[in-house]
Amino acid sequence: MTEAPDDAKARRAVPPVICYPVHRLPKPDLALYGKALASARVTDTVTVPPRDAGTFRVPAGHFFRIACIEGAQVGDLNLWNAHDLSERFYSGKTRALHGTHVSTGDRLWSGFPTLRPLATIVGDSLVWYGIDDFGGSVHDVIGTRCDPYTGNLLAGTQYHHCCHSNLTRALADVLDLPLSDAEGHVHDVLNVFMCTGFTRDTGQYFMKASPVRPGDALTLFAEIDLLGALSACPGGDCSAEHSSDAAACHPLRVEILAPDPATLAGWQPPAKNSYDRSHGR
Ligand SMILES: [Zn+2]
Repeated sequence: MTEAPDDAKARRAVPPVICYPVHRLPKPDLALYGKALASARVTDTVTVPPRDAGTFRVPAGHFFRIACIEGAQVGDLNLWNAHDLSERFYSGKTRALHGTHVSTGDRLWSGFPTLRPLATIVGDSLVWYGIDDFGGSVHDVIGTRCDPYTGNLLAGTQYHHCCHSNLTRALADVLDLPLSDAEGHVHDVLNVFMCTGFTRDTGQYFMKASPVRPGDALTLFAEIDLLGALSACPGGDCSAEHSSDAAACHPLRVEILAPDPATLAGWQPPAKNSYDRSHGR
């Protein structure tokens, strides 16, 4: 047994410090985006079938809207630079910068070495949810994606319609890649509409029924040319289980919206991170 030191209480009482103060981040111009969105027209629509994934392309300066259309449903989102798959969404750094859950004004960041916003959230009909009494909130960047490997590890299953597999098939199809190549490009997701948190007593990742209803949507502005993939999670509203065919599942819709270019006068895609990459050598 390890005894607590005499000053344990004092050590625990040290107040926390925010790792990355957000006020130092370049601020998105939400008024500009709002004006552009008001002028935007739908140019393409993709319906993602339940327990499957779909892909879509969004030119820089356009919007995409992920909508719940038939019943409560969670979506797992991957984003890549449309011209370079090595630049992709970095869930961990997005979490470090914006917190465990994201909403309007938060940005989805790419990994190293680019570390720039791929997309900015400009509309979230679930923003009212806030943080519930369990510590749960919506649109998390803490879960990774449901996958057949963890299912196999925990239950010995061979289930093929987890979000990881759905995203892998969708990317393989759109880029005509072998599954094994496509799989390597699939990454930790934004869990759209998913309600999650960590239990207070054991710190375990939990999920609960998503508050999303038909008509709800998350709207994002594409900061660079994007290739996106969205999986309609086999967990449905994620109220009970995922990684099986047990849950009621529904389709999701992705709309691509083009604004009047005049509304974005002066806007430019974000530059790549300017760290010189010499790493001390
Ligand atoms: Zn899933």
